[in-house]
Amino acid sequence: MIHAIAQAAAVLATALFIFSLHWMNDPKTARRGVVAGVTGMVIAVGATWIQPEIVHHGWIGLAIVAGFIVGVPLSLVPLTAVPQRTALSHAFGGLAAGLVGTAEYVVGLTENPAQLTTFRTSAIVAEVILGFLTFTGSLMAAGKLQEVKWIPQRPVTYPGQNVVNIGVLALAAALGVLVVLHPTAAWSGQAFYAIVGLAVLFGVLLIIPIGGADMPTVISILNSYAGLSAVAMGFVLDNKLLVTAGALDGSSGLILSIIMCRAMNRSFTNVLFGAFGTVQKTAAIAEQKAWKQETVEGAAQLLEQANLVVVIPGYGMAVAQAQHKVRELYDQLTKRGITVKFAIHPVAGRMPGHMNVLLAEANIPYTALVEMEEINPDMPQCDVALVIGANDVVNPAARYAKGSPIYGMPIIDADKAKTVLAIKRSKNPGFAGIDNELYVQDNTWMLFGDAKAVIGDLVKQLAGGSGLH
Ligand code: NDP
Repeated sequence: MIHAIAQAAAVLATALFIFSLHWMNDPKTARRGVVAGVTGMVIAVGATWIQPEIVHHGWIGLAIVAGFIVGVPLSLVPLTAVPQRTALSHAFGGLAAGLVGTAEYVVGLTENPAQLTTFRTSAIVAEVILGFLTFTGSLMAAGKLQEVKWIPQRPVTYPGQNVVNIGVLALAAALGVLVVLHPTAAWSGQAFYAIVGLAVLFGVLLIIPIGGADMPTVISILNSYAGLSAVAMGFVLDNKLLVTAGALDGSSGLILSIIMCRAMNRSFTNVLFGAFGTVQKTAAIAEQKAWKQETVEGAAQLLEQANLVVVIPGYGMAVAQAQHKVRELYDQLTKRGITVKFAIHPVAGRMPGHMNVLLAEANIPYTALVEMEEINPDMPQCDVALVIGANDVVNPAARYAKGSPIYGMPIIDADKAKTVLAIKRSKNPGFAGIDNELYVQDNTWMLFGDAKAVIGDLVKQLAGGSGLH
């Protein structure tokens, strides 16, 4: 009876996971998708827990409490830190899979060698390699995104890097084959721990040559690996629900990686093995050309005289939490009959959909949001391109500067607009760490300051002009 209930619950949980992913496709139904996913996971845990062979209830309770203690504060991080938080979740998933695989192997070796069949040992080896490489790879990625001091942000490369990386993985796989063929040999325990060590090392080596614009893709590839390690864990533990949930996780991560690779005009192998070793600064433009500043009054006038304003938001809008002020600006401009569009770059900000989420939070209509490929043909007709804390996604160097870390990434053609107004706090570069000639173009005017404050001042100016600083 309990088995039948657990089976039915597993089917229900799987259906909820599938619906959850489907609903995530659209901002209108995304919240429902989150609720469905959480409900599915609660049912999945319950369905596993009620199985008669589960005995250590105290330990399970303790693990759940520990999970809450870590998970609740993690869920409260600001939106700008969500990519790092996501990477940490993948790291925990990978670690869990790696530890479960190790435990299963050790228990098999010491207590029940008959359990170590070829199939099961293969699944354990796959789980442990994927789990531990996801663990260290995701920790490195989280550290890079959080700009942790002792992890180099720039890609670290050296001659023969790919040979070393592939060699480490191939060695782990070869040892894995030996362990599968001789799971209980006198040396197989040591070989198994060597596999763990190599996977841990490979995770680190995989991430150090990656940086700049490729980080988001790598996060979703690691998501995919975490899912695959869960699939292998499902086979090891003979838990079908884990297999389906892991497969959904793995494939959605893979699909997202492919979408992002396309958005950035990169191939998969190029992201993973491209090793942007020759990163060069585009010749220090700041020294060659002058940055021109505009006043709030002047900028407000330019905006008022425009027919078409294209707002290009980026990471700085998220940092400043300027979205609500942006909404007020949108209201001021549309009230005057000006067409206002928001150009959304697929990797603007620090996570996929970052700008969509912020603009939706401020109730800016979805219809005003236009994808990069659709807005670019309109840019030459755009009177004012208002760049709000965006940098890499509007950097023309992506079109021609071969040594640049963003070379080849499609950009929003802000530089083709009749006038560009750009808001940022300083002359510092963006995520990829490179100069941006857009800011010193003849038709570009800077509004230096925090995006929320500058847009707030613009709104005040447009609304009647009091209280400016
Ligand atoms: P960038 O990081 O290139 O630039 C952000 C700009 O915002 C900076 O120039 C900064 O200049 C400015 N800024 C920061 N804070 C403020 C503030 N409070 N007010 C005003 N301006 C501010 O952002 P983009 O969105 O253009 O590009 C995203 C980059 O991040 C790409 O390289 C992408 O590959 C990468 N990335 C994207 C991820 C994703 O999934 N979307 C994930 C990880 C990385 P200043 O300091 O002078 O103010």
